[in-house]
Amino acid sequence: MNTEVAPAWSGFLPVPTPETAPFWDACNEGTFLLQRCRDCGKTQYHYRALCCHCWSDQVDDFASSGKGTVWTCSVVYKNNTPGYVDKLPYVVGLVELEGGVKVFGNILGDAPEAVDIGTAVEITFAKADNGQMIPLFEVAAN
Ligand SMILES: [Zn+2]
Repeated sequence: MNTEVAPAWSGFLPVPTPETAPFWDACNEGTFLLQRCRDCGKTQYHYRALCCHCWSDQVDDFASSGKGTVWTCSVVYKNNTPGYVDKLPYVVGLVELEGGVKVFGNILGDAPEAVDIGTAVEITFAKADNGQMIPLFEVAAN
């Protein structure tokens, strides 16, 4: 995942907590973290201190491959929210990452209408004014 030529991010910003700071710090290094539970073996997203499947606190971080496919998506044509109005139209989708977890995010591409269920996408990052790298998706190169 390349963070050197990241587009600018103008939307809402995360507010890292002590629990989520490792996730956001990893984003700044170009890594999207998932977690695997040592007790039940399941994978989870979003990032948290406990396993969402069995409540164990024995969760290990690992880097997602960043590769996934669109599970569902929608093109947004209307949004007056500052930071989003200038992106219209844009695609928001639920992406199934390798490993099975699903992640919501913006999906970048030249033609929003070309993004469809099953489209191959990859995680990329956009840079906010405060330097935080924001994960989103882009249509994978063929
Ligand atoms: Zn578990």
